Amino acid sequence: GEKLVEVKNVTKHFMINKKQRLTAVSNVSFDIYKGETFGLVGESGCGKSTIGRLLMRLYETTAGEIFFQGENIHARKSKEKEKLLYRKMQMIFQDPYSSLNPRMTVSDIIAEGLDIHQLVKNKKERQEKIDQLLEIVGLKPEDRNRYPHEFSGGQRQRIGIARALALEPDFIIADEPISALDASIQAQIVNLLKELQEQRGLTYLFIAHDLAMVKYISDRVGVMYLGKLVELAESEELYEQPLHPYTKALLSAIPLPDPRLERTREKIILKGEIPSPIDPPTGCRFHPRCPVKKEICVRLEPEWTEVKEGHIVLCHLYQ
Ligand code: SF4
Ligand code: MG
Repeated sequence: GEKLVEVKNVTKHFMINKKQRLTAVSNVSFDIYKGETFGLVGESGCGKSTIGRLLMRLYETTAGEIFFQGENIHARKSKEKEKLLYRKMQMIFQDPYSSLNPRMTVSDIIAEGLDIHQLVKNKKERQEKIDQLLEIVGLKPEDRNRYPHEFSGGQRQRIGIARALALEPDFIIADEPISALDASIQAQIVNLLKELQEQRGLTYLFIAHDLAMVKYISDRVGVMYLGKLVELAESEELYEQPLHPYTKALLSAIPLPDPRLERTREKIILKGEIPSPIDPPTGCRFHPRCPVKKEICVRLEPEWTEVKEGHIVLCHLYQ
């Protein structure tokens, strides 16, 4: 496939105070292909949202580069190119409520981008476009004059999606878009995102905190732990043949639908808490919690190993 996004050796530090720095993302590389959904998974504090924000250019990288359609997104560019880039990459959020201005009607929320980017010629066209977008995301044209608080969580997520779609993006970063919703609503939003992807050839980065959430939407999945990308594989491969001990533990935490299988399955319980990213463990960052660690893991950081084509893991067991 054609690469739409390239994340190359990206590191992001934050200074906590004069002496301490937090490494939110540490030397992470991956590509996202045009038209795919790339799932990025990990517990809170693993750096997955930081990657989303780096892609949206809300942060600058400390080291490494990010390319979108072959261009370095953080490099200086003309105003026009800058504007186009803002339009082409859109984000939807976990809590659409906090990202929707409570004093604006749905119509104004959606139209804001249309106006900034001059995507409609006049009022009539603007109105038609808004109604069309509302319909596409499963809302009614009558909803246009209502305010965000008048909607349910799922409906608000639909407004957020309509706002993103208004700008005709190529790439959407969805940062935990379903985590705050009920299970039945989660499925509806995932289905909506899938439909939109098919109709519009969209590419997604889908960020989530557990593997169950990205399973049905992702073509490929990356697993992060404490700022590191520890495993990357095609979705089916990852769920059936997980390699990294952390991925195995995450997968064993997902309940199986069949209660008989669920009872007999071996659960991997990780000991301890996630260590602080301010002072991460030596060697492999997962070693204090790893059930199969070796002596080498404590002193030496593992390197990326491509075990099979497209299946990459960061663990001494596979080197
Ligand atoms: Fe466990 Fe060692 Fe692999 Fe880290 S490198 S996950 S500690 S076996
Ligand atoms: Mg987050």
